[in-house]
Amino acid sequence: MRPEILFPAFAPTSSLKGCGPAIAKLLEKLGIARVLDLWWHLPQGVVDRRFMPTVAAAPHESICTIVVRVDQHLPPRTPRLPYRVACSDATGTLLLVWFNGRESHLRQILPEGSTRVVSGKVELFNDQPQMVHPDLVVNEEDLKTIPLVEPVYALTGGLHQRALGKLVTGALDRAPELTEWLDPSWQQKEGWPAWRAALQAAHRPSDPDQANPLTPARRRLAYDELLANQLALTIVRARLKRANGRPLKGDGRLRRKVIDALPYHLTGDQAMALGEIEADMGSDKRMQHLLQGDVGSGKTVVALLAMLVAVEAGAQATLMAPTEILARQHYATLALLGEAAGVRIALLTGREKGKTRAGLLQSLAAGEIDIAVGTHALFQDDVEFRDLALAVIDEQHRFGVHQRLTLAAKGQRDQGGIDLLAMTATPIPRTLALTAFGDLDISSLHEKPPGRTPIDTRTISLERFDEVVAAVRRKLDAGAQAYWVCPLVEESEVADLAAVEERTAALREILGDRVGLVHGRMKGAAKDAAMADFAAGRTSLLVATTVIEVGVDVPNATLMVIEHAERFGLAQLHQLRGRVGRGSGASTCLLLYSNPLGETAKARLKVLRDTDDGFRIAEEDLRLRGAGDLLGTRQSGLPEFRLADIALHADLLQVARDDAKLIYERDPDLQSPRGRALRVLLYLYERDAAIRYLASV
Ligand code: ADP
Ligand code: MG
Repeated sequence: MRPEILFPAFAPTSSLKGCGPAIAKLLEKLGIARVLDLWWHLPQGVVDRRFMPTVAAAPHESICTIVVRVDQHLPPRTPRLPYRVACSDATGTLLLVWFNGRESHLRQILPEGSTRVVSGKVELFNDQPQMVHPDLVVNEEDLKTIPLVEPVYALTGGLHQRALGKLVTGALDRAPELTEWLDPSWQQKEGWPAWRAALQAAHRPSDPDQANPLTPARRRLAYDELLANQLALTIVRARLKRANGRPLKGDGRLRRKVIDALPYHLTGDQAMALGEIEADMGSDKRMQHLLQGDVGSGKTVVALLAMLVAVEAGAQATLMAPTEILARQHYATLALLGEAAGVRIALLTGREKGKTRAGLLQSLAAGEIDIAVGTHALFQDDVEFRDLALAVIDEQHRFGVHQRLTLAAKGQRDQGGIDLLAMTATPIPRTLALTAFGDLDISSLHEKPPGRTPIDTRTISLERFDEVVAAVRRKLDAGAQAYWVCPLVEESEVADLAAVEERTAALREILGDRVGLVHGRMKGAAKDAAMADFAAGRTSLLVATTVIEVGVDVPNATLMVIEHAERFGLAQLHQLRGRVGRGSGASTCLLLYSNPLGETAKARLKVLRDTDDGFRIAEEDLRLRGAGDLLGTRQSGLPEFRLADIALHADLLQVARDDAKLIYERDPDLQSPRGRALRVLLYLYERDAAIRYLASV
């Protein structure tokens, strides 16, 4: 149960003064529905009104606050002209100007003969200083109560700065004093205010320098959020680990057959990762293991061997892929490799329907299938295993946290928790991995299988399209194959599709019918056919949307052209590039960009040219784009933070992690006074799902 002290925090914004249904609707567009959402809506900057010059000294184009005498109202002769009020001080006259000004209102706030303080931009019009639509008109008394450094908030159409500011003030008035949850010596060392004071200070910067994420107040709030995140993860994870896993031990008979049949030797990294995973499976704790390795580093065979451990132990395993194409390709690879050992492998995707599907489900439930390869279809409720012991999730970032939990639940119903092996070719920077998984066990494949030649990567302006096409033609004529990737912009699938089809048509015109096309809107069978044609060499240039991003393996493809490379994430570009360089031929990747290219975009493409180390690329992407953008937070399954910025507050994440660990070791059920305060923290940052894992609530 949410502690009572936080009830006001979760009240709807409509409970605030001045927030009617219309305003509430606008707020919702900003993701603000409750009082605490306003707390977390921190200012993006400030307007500084502290500069108080005379009229004569008022510079143009900057905000001035000026004390003036109101001399005379000058109503317009026709309504289309502006309403003006002449004011002055000892140094000169200043005209205040309103378009569509209401006379009665203006006479009321600016009586002739009175002294007023006005604030806004001063500009020269026919050599006459004037202020159009002053932001502020007050008397000298009121000036003392008004902050001259005003916070500036992100808005949405129809919502005004002042109105939002007032709502924030109303919301802040409801912020309670909370019992401190920070370690006192750490708080003191950092010089951080108490939570409520920090919140106030973050919204009311007294100085423009105080309106950035690195102030003590903002760092404190960021830390609180990170601590809530890390503490919740620590609790859940400790609980899952405690949940009885089953020691899975195989005798090696199946693995030996497969390894003997492999046309290559495992790399040192593959063997080591396999050892780590095997040890993890063999323990009586539930496994939560991440296998990360660049595209082409050979994760699939590691996954297969891990699954064989489960099969040797008499259980079942499953491998889940994010796309149909990838699932089919995995199935083909695994079926081939598994043949040597006589393991029974089946494919289950959204395309297996009716009798086929029913038959598959029955075999799975009866244990006649050892390994099920598939897509999201494997998550469905009616899919039951006789004895599922290991789930491998390929490209895990494509799956949400929710799906991961659903899957975890599938196993828990029967034989204790199932072991989980997540795989990613988009190495997650250590910092982000921490926020999503806490202390996940990680194995990494740094070493690439032998025989790869590095990919020559170049950036080229789209204006040189003709040269690029000529280069493609030369490659194709020499017997090589190539990909041509068009970007998808989610806003309009129809327009995207049109762009891809147009590009295909243009390339066919020049290169003939050896040009194939595959995109996400194609029907399954058509997609398969297009892929199969390319794999078999019946087409030699494959125009594609990012559906080819993951997994597709055609060793003869040695050229990758990516159109509008500047629109892709670095990690994604790196993934795409990894589609070539799979065989022994020298490969090239051409990143086509359209001008003008911004500084960041330039820097990002340069990273890609300079390195093919996916781990470094991920770190650089994080640095250049910020965490929110990385992979696109929404599809990444990584948590979104409202106050913490993973790039700016990376140092705090480490501390939060250690802090959470220590807290959990000393007070696993959060019973001490500090523990009680920390429970409030978990509720405040909505990480309270973790609380039900505590032994006593
Ligand atoms: P990814 O990590 O991107 O999933 P894959 O598992 O698809 O990589 O492997 C890429 C290619 O490398 C496959 O064609 C696979 O057969 C090959 N491969 C994997 N391990 C080795 C190895 N140890 N030596 C040589 N080739 C390997
Ligand atoms: Mg793979």
